[in-house]
Amino acid sequence: MSKKVTIIGSGFSSLSSACYLAKAGFDVSIYEKNTTAGGRARQLKRDGFTFDMGPSWYWMPDIFDKFFADFDKKTSDYYKLDKLSPAYKIFFSDDVITIGDSLDKISAEFERIEAGSSKHLKKFISQAQENYSIAIDKVVLRPGLSPFELITKETILKVDQFFKTISSEVRKKFKNPKLISTLEFPVLFLGAKPSKTPSFYNFMNFADFGLGTWHPKGGMYEVIKAMLNLSKELGVQIHTDSSIEKINVTDGKTVGVEINGQLIVSDIVLSGADYHHSESLLDKKYRQYSESYWSKKTFAPSSLLFYIGFNKKLKNIEHHNLFFDTDFEKHAEEIYDVPKWPTDPLFYANFPSITDKSMSPEGCETAFFLVPIAPDLEDTPELRQQYFDLIMARFQKRTDQQVEENILFKESFCVGDFIEEYNSYKGNAYGMANTLSQTAFLRPKLKSKKVKNLFFTGQLTVPGPGVPPALISGKLVSELIIKASNS
Ligand SMILES: Cc1cc2nc3c(=O)[nH]c(=O)nc-3n(C[C@H](O)[C@H](O)[C@H](O)COP(=O)(O)OP(=O)(O)OC[C@H]3O[C@@H](n4cnc5c(N)ncnc54)[C@H](O)[C@@H]3O)c2cc1C
Repeated sequence: MSKKVTIIGSGFSSLSSACYLAKAGFDVSIYEKNTTAGGRARQLKRDGFTFDMGPSWYWMPDIFDKFFADFDKKTSDYYKLDKLSPAYKIFFSDDVITIGDSLDKISAEFERIEAGSSKHLKKFISQAQENYSIAIDKVVLRPGLSPFELITKETILKVDQFFKTISSEVRKKFKNPKLISTLEFPVLFLGAKPSKTPSFYNFMNFADFGLGTWHPKGGMYEVIKAMLNLSKELGVQIHTDSSIEKINVTDGKTVGVEINGQLIVSDIVLSGADYHHSESLLDKKYRQYSESYWSKKTFAPSSLLFYIGFNKKLKNIEHHNLFFDTDFEKHAEEIYDVPKWPTDPLFYANFPSITDKSMSPEGCETAFFLVPIAPDLEDTPELRQQYFDLIMARFQKRTDQQVEENILFKESFCVGDFIEEYNSYKGNAYGMANTLSQTAFLRPKLKSKKVKNLFFTGQLTVPGPGVPPALISGKLVSELIIKASNS
């Protein structure tokens, strides 16, 4: 009889592992606390408007291709992808930088800002491409069990890049502060300050300028739908509105999970919920990491989000827009060093209906605004409104238009919702940051050291935050489970 695997949560990492395990012949059931699947990548639909509630940047298309190829499928079997052109726009206080869909276009834009910079850019991206191949083909696909996994003949030659930071490397080659911010932006996806992120991680710059920014027609949730369909084709059972209350352990071995006091007997339990929460479902003696362990870790930011339906088309914007018209360093300090509500935050604005008509009613615009903030901040309706007013004023000024009177509705999401909806530690939006001391074997482990047959996946473990890493995390943990079951 097939071994029964119970998976907690239905985010990208859980869905990925469910597919691999079902393919390997396990009897897989997913239990998701919320009414819809997808975790942080859920979708909000209202009055004909469609919002991706979390991820909106489809980067590293090769990782998605590889995931579906593992099941003899293609992304195009499930959704249609468009490469965005331009990829995005960055608003500064005195200029706007447009990131095109090719390195040549981006180089021309760099040259406009700083004479001679395109030569440095091409060299920088070529080195970033090398790191991308090493990271994706050699490093990231390892389960974080031992430091030796990081030692390959390729990484030995690049060891210095683990001790220098992105910030210092970028500053050596580029002088213009706008170009520096542009090149530091991609590593923000890893959840830490560029001055704390090893320069090896410049592979994110290749993901950005080399591989480009893509959009699945209908939004990122199409990828969740694709994975749900694939998992169902493979026989996975999905239960929503099913919050797991306890992971039961007998004699150091998990025997299943509890919902409403009922035991769901399982041979293996895998949690894709936030790691800290997952361990809180165990009796204390079975937890591997203490509260003090978690409190010392650098978490990726939380976010203040607004989902807005506008009753007109907006101008001077693209699908993705970054508002870097205030002090990048100060905002980063207020997230990581002296956590507090930011004085004058950078923010991101997403208008998928600019390129995809299916996202809003005709003549309207679907908008989502994101302000990165420190986790664990006080979250009140008044504070949300204060920041809404602040970013709206800046948005209207920078894009030279009045839009506030055209708002049909707005919904917000912040620290309190991350905790309530996803059991997120301190309301983090995207997990534990990838700093040098929180990389690979230094991250919380995929396999419990204290409970036999208990495993973890997702953005707090290996390899880290983001949708492509979540797909990889699901694959890595399923390989460990398959190996453990065969031994
Ligand atoms: C606002 C925002 C913007 C982002 N932007 C991008 C982007 O543009 N590109 C990108 O690549 N990444 C982005 N990310 C990061 C990316 O979305 C995440 O890294 C990824 O979706 C995490 O997937 P996961 O499977 O680890 O966790 P989650 O998606 O958090 O899944 C965990 C699931 O477990 C469920 N759960 C929790 N407790 C229980 C319980 N007791 N019982 C049952 N179920 C439970 C939760 O409800 C949730 O569904 C963004 C994230 C956010 C929040």
